[in-house]
Amino acid sequence: MNVTKAEVHVMRLDDYVPLLGAPEIDELRALAGQLSGRTVQMVNSTAMGGGVAEMLNRVIPLIQELGLQPRWDVITGGQDFFEVTKAFHNALHGGPYQARKEDFDLFLATNELNRQRLQFDCEFTVINDPQPVALIEARSKQEGHWIWRCHIDLSHPNADVWSFLRPFVYRYDAALFSSPAFARQLPIPQYLFHPCIDPLSEKNVDLDPEWVSSVLVRYGIDASRPIVTQISRFDRLKDPVGVVHAYQIVKRYMDCQLVLAGGSASDDPEGEIVLEEVRREAKNDPDIHLLNLPPWSALEINALQRASTVIVQKSLREGFGLTVTEALWKKKPVVASAVGGIPAQVIHKHTGLLVHSIEGTAYQIRFLLSNPALAQKLGEQGHDHVREHFLITSNVKRYLTIFLHSLTHS
Ligand code: UDP
Repeated sequence: MNVTKAEVHVMRLDDYVPLLGAPEIDELRALAGQLSGRTVQMVNSTAMGGGVAEMLNRVIPLIQELGLQPRWDVITGGQDFFEVTKAFHNALHGGPYQARKEDFDLFLATNELNRQRLQFDCEFTVINDPQPVALIEARSKQEGHWIWRCHIDLSHPNADVWSFLRPFVYRYDAALFSSPAFARQLPIPQYLFHPCIDPLSEKNVDLDPEWVSSVLVRYGIDASRPIVTQISRFDRLKDPVGVVHAYQIVKRYMDCQLVLAGGSASDDPEGEIVLEEVRREAKNDPDIHLLNLPPWSALEINALQRASTVIVQKSLREGFGLTVTEALWKKKPVVASAVGGIPAQVIHKHTGLLVHSIEGTAYQIRFLLSNPALAQKLGEQGHDHVREHFLITSNVKRYLTIFLHSLTHS
C-alpha cells in the first residue's frame, strides 16, 4: 500500500494479510474466539504524544474487531500533577530527585480524583505506566484482572519513588515489562511484552515519493544532501543537545544536514524548555532543522524518516524507543544508544550500530555516510527483525495470550 495524505483509512485485520500472511491473522482470530465479548479497559495518561498513546491508538481498534469490548480512558490532572509525574519518570530512569511529601500527596490526590471520575467495571484492566498506578485502589475485592503495563526502564529506579509506587504494583495480578532488564523483584508474575508498531498506520505505511519530497520542500530541507535525523519529544533523556554536538563533529569532516523533529505530549511539561536549550546549541546553523511538530504529524514524520540517510536515537535513557522500530521498519541505518529496549532492536553491526557517547555517535554517523552499501544492508536486516518481533499483530497476540492465561489461572 502506498498512500498520499488524503488516502489513509482505518485498518481492518484483513488489510494485514498481504503483508503478514493469512496464518498470522487466522491465529489471532482463533485466540480471540475464546475471549469474545470480554471487556477490556486500557488506562494511560495522554491521548496523544509519545509511544504509549501511539500503540493504544492502534491496538484498541484491532482488539475490538477481534470481538472483545475495549475501552480507553485517559487520566486527567493539572500541570502540577504532570510535573510531579515527569519528575517521577526521570527519577525512575535513575535521574536525581529530591523526595517531597507534597509531590506524593498530589500524586495520590489526582489518582483518587480519577478513580472517582472513571468507571472500573471491565474484566481486564490494563493500567499503563506509573502515572495512573494508584488506580488499583478502584479494584473492588478480587474482581476482574488488573495488569500493570510498564513501558519505562526500571532497572535503576530512584529508591524513594520506587518505594512509594511499589506497594501499588504489588496489588496487580501481573506486570508487563518491555525488556527483561526492566523487571524488578515483585511478588506478582512478570511478563516480557515488546512494544510494537503498526506497519499500516500513517506513521509507517509506504508513502508516495513525491509526497516525501514535498515535505522536505515544506521544511526547507535539501533532498540532494545527506540527512541525519532524530525524531523525539524535546526531552533531556532523548539528548537532543548531544545529537547537535555529534552532528557538529560530523560536519567538520562531511557535508550533511541535521533534522531534529519532535513535538510535545500533554503529560510532558518540559518540551519548550528543552527546545530552547537545543536552539541555543544549534547557533543558527542553517543546516540544522528544528521542527516542533503538532501531534497530527504522523505522515510528516513518516516522510522525514523515509527521506533520512541515517537515523539517530541518542537517548540517555529509554523505555523501548519506538522511533527506532519505525526507522528500522523503513530500512534505515540506525545509530542508537545502547540503553533501555534499544539493544533488543539494534543488534550491533547486524541491524544497526550501538553507541555510548557523543563521539561514538559522530563516528558511526560518519561511518554510515561513507559506507552506503553497508548502511543499506543494516537497514534491510533491521526491517526483517522488526517484522519478526515488533509488529502490532504480535502485540495483540500477546495481549490475548495474557488475558487467556489470566482466565485460566484465576
Ligand atoms: N512522535 C511523534 N511526534 C513527535 C515525536 C515523536 O508522533 O514529535 C512519535 C514517534 O514517532 C514514536 C513515539 O512518538 O511513535 C515516541 O515513542 P518512543 O518510544 O520513541 O518514545 P517516548 O516518547 O514514548 O519516550
